[in-house]
Amino acid sequence: MNKEQWIDKTEEGLLHVYDRYDVVLDHGEGVYLYDTDGKKYLDFASGIGVMGLGYGYPEWVDALRDQVGKVTHVSNLFYHTEAMEAASLLLEASGMEKAFFTNSGTEAIEGAIKAARKYAYTKRGRAGGEIIAFENSFHGRTIGALSVTGTQHYREPFEPLMPGVRFAEYNDIESVKKQIGPDTIAIMVEMVQGEGGVMPASGEFAKGLKQIQDSGILIICDEVQCGMGRTGKMFAYQWYGLEPDIVTCAKALGCGVPVGAFLLNEKTAASSLTPGDHGTTYGGNPLALRAVKTVFNIFKDKDILSHVAEMGDYLGETLENLAKKHEEITGVRGKGLMRGLAFRESPAGTVKKCIENGLIVITAGGNVLRMLPPLVIEKDHIDEMAAVLEKVL
Ligand SMILES: *Cc1c(COP(=O)(O)O)cnc(C)c1O
Repeated sequence: MNKEQWIDKTEEGLLHVYDRYDVVLDHGEGVYLYDTDGKKYLDFASGIGVMGLGYGYPEWVDALRDQVGKVTHVSNLFYHTEAMEAASLLLEASGMEKAFFTNSGTEAIEGAIKAARKYAYTKRGRAGGEIIAFENSFHGRTIGALSVTGTQHYREPFEPLMPGVRFAEYNDIESVKKQIGPDTIAIMVEMVQGEGGVMPASGEFAKGLKQIQDSGILIICDEVQCGMGRTGKMFAYQWYGLEPDIVTCAKALGCGVPVGAFLLNEKTAASSLTPGDHGTTYGGNPLALRAVKTVFNIFKDKDILSHVAEMGDYLGETLENLAKKHEEITGVRGKGLMRGLAFRESPAGTVKKCIENGLIVITAGGNVLRMLPPLVIEKDHIDEMAAVLEKVL
């Protein structure tokens, strides 16, 4: 089959909820993807921040091959050997106390909402707690996660959504305080907003959140996109000295195997979900948790975080230089290897041209061209990216 036939056949069968690019991907190697015509693409999106180790990372491939041969799924009615190690590595890296594994980011958010509500129910002796979320946030597509997602046009067709959600302005602590009422139980926040436009929280804002947390309101950090080393620390809240009550994680947690998690600190775990309150069939299966364990071990052995910090600085400088030369770019945002170029107008055309020229980048809200390269990129790849972008611009 040729490219057009693949595309036509796919569109025949799949519900059309994505306007996809005209590319049929076939395989990946390192930080490159290849399409069915053999064309090579430098991947600066990594499957939207999933493929942290790039494609075909040898230790990861070997571990998963081994696990597929052993066992990929057992029910959560039994223990298995991968669960303990994956959980303890994740908890050690996050500073949290208890983990629940899910299959996706949106499910992690659902679990976080349930955990917060159950905690408040236990403490207050009644339900009806409210959550504050932020404009331009993104937390997922299921009804609960959609209810806390700050983009009106994602939410509107699906109303009525989960009640008890109020929205505040990101990086504006006064707007948060205005939304706090007697029923406020939690604040859900991305310390670097991803879909919303690669917008990091300010230090002031984080300080304000900490003060609100001290008054007894739970802080839920959604680390689905900005976590797992993306910003140069394992989790983005670690830049701010914030100790969240609940953390969500997914995307790069398995570096290509679908897996997410929500994590609770000691205080929250002690008064939250108990047997019968929550569950999942696939969540935390041996294949996914072998991936999680392997990812953490590779991060440690190869000191991925230092590499991200170094490459992140270089990427930042490179983008600042580009921005200086091109007046359609109004700013460079982000941290580490999570970067955005803000444009005067929509960068959709620029993104399309980059892809035609063998460079995969994506968009984000607020006219931002977003970059989430694999964490294992090298300076040469950043130079290669800059050359393509320069040409396109
Ligand atoms: C992608 C994302 C989600 C949703 O994750 P899915 O795996 O697509 O359900 C939630 N929160 C943030 C911050 C995300 O970037």
